[in-house]
Amino acid sequence: MKIGYAQTVLTPALDRPVFLAGFGNNRRAENIHDDLFARVLSISDGSTTLVLCALDLIGFFQVDVQAILKMLASDQVFKQANPHVVIASTHTHHGPDTMGLWGPDQKTRGVDEEWLNLIKPRIVTTILTALADMRTARVRFTSVHVPGVAKNARNPEIVDDELTLAQFVAEDGNPLVTLFDFPCHPEVLWDHNPSITADYPGFLRAEVEKITAAPCIFFSGALGGMMTPDVRDHSFDESQVMGTRLAQEGLRALAGLAAEPVMIQYQTKIIKARLTNILYKLAFIRKLLPDIRDKAGRVTSQVGLLRIGGLWLVTVPGEMLPKLGLAVKQDLLKAGAQVAGVIGLANDELGYILPAEDFKYPWNPFNPGNHYEETNSIGKEIGPSVMAGIGSLL
Ligand SMILES: [Zn+2]
Repeated sequence: MKIGYAQTVLTPALDRPVFLAGFGNNRRAENIHDDLFARVLSISDGSTTLVLCALDLIGFFQVDVQAILKMLASDQVFKQANPHVVIASTHTHHGPDTMGLWGPDQKTRGVDEEWLNLIKPRIVTTILTALADMRTARVRFTSVHVPGVAKNARNPEIVDDELTLAQFVAEDGNPLVTLFDFPCHPEVLWDHNPSITADYPGFLRAEVEKITAAPCIFFSGALGGMMTPDVRDHSFDESQVMGTRLAQEGLRALAGLAAEPVMIQYQTKIIKARLTNILYKLAFIRKLLPDIRDKAGRVTSQVGLLRIGGLWLVTVPGEMLPKLGLAVKQDLLKAGAQVAGVIGLANDELGYILPAEDFKYPWNPFNPGNHYEETNSIGKEIGPSVMAGIGSLL
């Protein structure tokens, strides 16, 4: 088994207006607290190659992922490796708008297209770099519960506080790359924060890198409705405490585990779901979002099942609610996984992925009360469709 790694900074310059994504409109970035990254891990077992890319962004649509795949397709190194590619967003709420919903007002798109077009070739180069320089590795993996850092603001009784972990090591045992996956919105800093930051995953990665002297890649798990940091002041101190604690507990769980070379596998399944949310339709009319519907009003996306030996991760095209995330992990373990996890916002961002029985579209979507997640979801069909897709992969 071989792995490669590369990263690049995505942070936009502040010489032009940068609208921060998440929360409300017209949140302009005033300064940069810490950089936003594209981080890429490539893994190959000799027959299958996989590229895992994590972006410190609110979300990255399928159309943007396809633009990157198109650029990659013309490269000889890429053609030869012929890898599966997963591009996922961490969903930080303190980076530039990459979707369109958070411009200066509710009728103006917040995306700086020039910057978005600038980062795509940089992500391509980073992926190619990770594929070009691969070295022999083994992997250890596990998971650990870290209670008290995250809460569920929608259904307090349903909390997923499990870190899913993998560490790739060289033949001499030294760490090469550590992978962390945790289901919680990167929004410690909350809506008043004018600083660009990767939020707690940034602090998490810094701590892991300090301890292991090797890069760390972070993915967000089933962070939907509404896994959020359990903090009081929404401060950088709290963001650091959360990131540092997760880093230390994760590394402690990995310490001493045997590492071995493993086979990898990635299968995907196309899914379809009807788009019924009136707010999305309004955003299409206002040209805030690209209209992704087919003639029947349906959206096409994909789910995936990734196996790194006994570590099985499903990839889902949005923000899965923890109830579904917990169910999926149980299904994976039943099907033979030793360790299970979810990579959210993978190769798409269709908003919240809710269990059908919990889906209740509010009478007034502008004042949704306890049903905010439904107003940021394409519709009721996406949850069952994602679950059916994963079911067929298993
Ligand atoms: Zn969200």
